[in-house]
Amino acid sequence: AKIRRPIVAGNWKMNGNLSLVKTMQDALAQSQLDNMDTVVCPPFTLLSGFDTQQIKLGAQNLSVYPNGAHTGEISAAMLQDVGCQYVILGHSERRAEQFESNELVADKVKVALTAGLQPIVCVGEPLEVRQSGKVFDYVAAQLDAVTQVISQQDLLEVVVAYEPIWAIGTGNTATPEQVQEVHAFIRNHLGKSCQEAAAKIRILYGGSVNAANAAQIFAQPDVDGGLIGGASLKVEDFLAICQAAN
Ligand code: PEP
Repeated sequence: AKIRRPIVAGNWKMNGNLSLVKTMQDALAQSQLDNMDTVVCPPFTLLSGFDTQQIKLGAQNLSVYPNGAHTGEISAAMLQDVGCQYVILGHSERRAEQFESNELVADKVKVALTAGLQPIVCVGEPLEVRQSGKVFDYVAAQLDAVTQVISQQDLLEVVVAYEPIWAIGTGNTATPEQVQEVHAFIRNHLGKSCQEAAAKIRILYGGSVNAANAAQIFAQPDVDGGLIGGASLKVEDFLAICQAAN
């Protein structure tokens, strides 16, 4: 068994509907995934369709503001209200398409933690950075922005997802060795801010995880589960991935 409780989180992105909520809910309710946390992160509109007795719910973003005149935004308290326990923050698609900076992501992490939500903080390099051999510097800057604004105690509640951008949605999964190398770096780097966090924090891998490659990735010592995009929309595949972590 793993030292840290594994997590598999499905990031539906801008996909899914009420019918998928029902089939996913029913399938997960019947699976006996007792040794792990199974998290579904559907679009905001589908959050209240899930029964949180059966699964854990996560959102894909939140507003940095608490309430008020911010048309189209969703607050941390609203996510709490519909039963979310987790929130994905700093996904590379939001960093790229919504221009979210390391600093904004860090502020959102702080907002989530203050509201009692566990942030799943996404970090990871684009291909050019990997090719230039600067992965550790790039990921360290993303992590440092977060550790600068939260307490050591709060860091224990953070989940990190290492998602190399070149591996997301491309079918190019990072090799188990590449994954383990960066996960070990992340763990060690966070240990400089908080030694306890190094041992306890859960670090997920994301990037073209599927039913066939999940077990090998999850077997790496510093991998505590996965953040799953495309394969999280297929009930059987998602269950198989969860089973590989359980
Ligand atoms: C993601 O976007 O978080 C992700 C890991 O996507 P995929 O599994 O489709 O590569």
